[in-house]
Amino acid sequence: MDKRLRIEHEDNANTMGRRAGRNVVGANEPYHYLPYFYSDLFDLGYEAVGELDSRLETVTDWPEPYQKGVVYYLQDGRVRGVLLWSVWDQVGAARELIAEKGPFKAGDLKGRLPKTG
Ligand SMILES: Cc1cc2nc3c(=O)[nH]c(=O)nc-3n(C[C@H](O)[C@H](O)[C@H](O)COP(=O)(O)OP(=O)(O)OC[C@H]3O[C@@H](n4cnc5c(N)ncnc54)[C@H](O)[C@@H]3O)c2cc1C
Repeated sequence: MDKRLRIEHEDNANTMGRRAGRNVVGANEPYHYLPYFYSDLFDLGYEAVGELDSRLETVTDWPEPYQKGVVYYLQDGRVRGVLLWSVWDQVGAARELIAEKGPFKAGDLKGRLPKTG
């Protein structure tokens, strides 16, 4: 992401804790992992990765409006974050998309991640 992020969620706690423990005993490994976070809201759930900042440009892809879909967060044509709303097993693909330099336009992103689940 070319910046530091503070992420107070489970995936980061697990992976950063493990890395910190290894480094305490001398591994000397950098931490570049991009964690995801999740939550469930009654019948709905989401997984999110990267920067979900409402100041960024957003591209929405809702096969079922507000029930199931993907929101892409962009800055200067680059995907900075992905919200997977009731869409599962796509966190790895979202991370790969964030790693791509782009540039992306809205038309490139609609349908980019499968809406499984
Ligand atoms: C209500 C709630 C809901 C959440 N929901 C989600 C969610 O849906 N998805 C998600 O990704 N994350 C969620 N989180 C966040 C996630 O639980 C935390 O980010 C994660 O547990 C942080 O892990 P940690 O190991 O860094 O800290 P903690 O889990 O807080 O562990 C710190 C431990 O250190 C112990 N401790 C503190 N001080 C000392 C001391 N001086 N000596 C010895 N031990 C000490 C504490 O007792 C505690 O056991 C939620 C958190 C809360 C509170």
